[in-house]
Amino acid sequence: MKIALISAEAYPFSKTGGLGDVVGALFKELLKEGIDVKLFLPYYRETKNNFYDKVENTEIVYGVSIGEAKKFGALLSARAYIDEEDNLILTPDKRGNVYFLEHNYYYDREQIYGTKYGGYFDEAERFIFFSKAFLEICKILNFQFNVIHCHDWHTSLIPLYLRTIYRESSCFEKSKTILTIHNLGYQGVFPKETLNITGFGWEMFHIDCLEFYGMVNFLKVGILYADFITTVSPTYAKEILTPEYGFGLEGVLRKRQDRLVGILNGIDYRIWNPQTDPYIVENYSVENIKGKEKNKEYLMKMACFNYDINTPLIAFLGRMVSQKGIDILIDALPELVKKEGVFIFLGTGEYFYENKIKEMEYKFPFKIKSFITFDEEKAHKVYAGADGIILPSKYEPCGLSQMISMRYGTIPICRKTGGFIDTVDEGQTGLLFENYEAASLIEAMDRFFHHYRDGEKFHKMKISAMEKDFSWSKSCKNYIKLYGEAINL
Ligand code: ADP
Repeated sequence: MKIALISAEAYPFSKTGGLGDVVGALFKELLKEGIDVKLFLPYYRETKNNFYDKVENTEIVYGVSIGEAKKFGALLSARAYIDEEDNLILTPDKRGNVYFLEHNYYYDREQIYGTKYGGYFDEAERFIFFSKAFLEICKILNFQFNVIHCHDWHTSLIPLYLRTIYRESSCFEKSKTILTIHNLGYQGVFPKETLNITGFGWEMFHIDCLEFYGMVNFLKVGILYADFITTVSPTYAKEILTPEYGFGLEGVLRKRQDRLVGILNGIDYRIWNPQTDPYIVENYSVENIKGKEKNKEYLMKMACFNYDINTPLIAFLGRMVSQKGIDILIDALPELVKKEGVFIFLGTGEYFYENKIKEMEYKFPFKIKSFITFDEEKAHKVYAGADGIILPSKYEPCGLSQMISMRYGTIPICRKTGGFIDTVDEGQTGLLFENYEAASLIEAMDRFFHHYRDGEKFHKMKISAMEKDFSWSKSCKNYIKLYGEAINL
């Protein structure tokens, strides 16, 4: 089977969060399984800076209609393979399996999606270009994919393009589409005038197609027209059928319920491995968990905390946005700092929340330390050094941080929602709390401290957490099975 993965992000080429991790890991795992897979990504500034010497210019130029205008882009390519130590190795190759779509005006920018002051004004146009450019490239290179696997709103117009503008192209005759929803909270909703640059006619601006409360909704189109829709955990696949979690698309999703599948994400065990992790101060494993203490000592120093090693060290690591529950955590903090633990924050997000955390840090400097930055290396150090990690999300499609922290023997304290329910065993590998409110979180933290004080119980929890299997191989097999089902439709 010939598979295309088309995404706005994939680690290690580009990443702002879970989408990047997941697509990068899926690509790697499909390669390991011997699947004929090609990955298509925008050639962002960040990608260019890090991989310019690993890619080759294919010398192919493609043109894409954006409204009345025709925009041209270049195509770069590299060949990726996995070495014996499970590393992804990249070499320049004109006809490789990773393709980067270059358009300097759209993608050579400071950040991937926008700066602190807001998203880029032409977000829709950048990804319409990306989606159509991919289809043009398939035509030029005669790529006849059996499955085109789209991810999130950025590429979710593709299923409709294939049924309309690109219907006559012979190279798509056998192509089926799968759309993976990584987060239903981000749908790509734009003013209706956006329709003018998509290439679709106004006759498609109605409730059973592009229209969504007078706007254009990219993700809705993907849900309606993809052959299969997947989301990233079985629980989230059920939750999004309800008004509480459906973000207005629950009705559309219910219509396609027979083609909606929840496949749990995994994590890349090569990158997230306390035994070999080059970023952490001392490597450790289930057999030699003592090494974790050195990481805690280091993290305490990094935070300028002058406490005994037995003081519980708890972290928040993630985007500082309301989805991640940072608001209830902020509400809970004045109460939490009265307890025995100290708190580290690593994340970026909305200004309002970043400032609130800074404010709290000034108020309680001996209890709170924050790093308002996106820093891969620090993230590894936090996962390795902390005793617990707070994940109070309002909703969580799958969540990777809880799986990563368990892998590092760091106990997740999560809200009982979405992928947390599918991955955390209450009282065994982590703690779950029910209500989206500070009081419920504080109650869970009390349970955490209670377990922490019982050294033996806490040790057992750490070991059980580390022994859980969140490797990608299982998830990948489920995707391969679904590709097969799509092909046989
Ligand atoms: P989401 O995709 O919703 O942000 P996930 O839990 O699925 O959340 O994935 C988050 C990923 O981003 C994890 O790999 C996490 O370690 C990483 N991450 C989040 N914030 C930061 C940060 N400030 N610095 C480094 N890595 C981060």
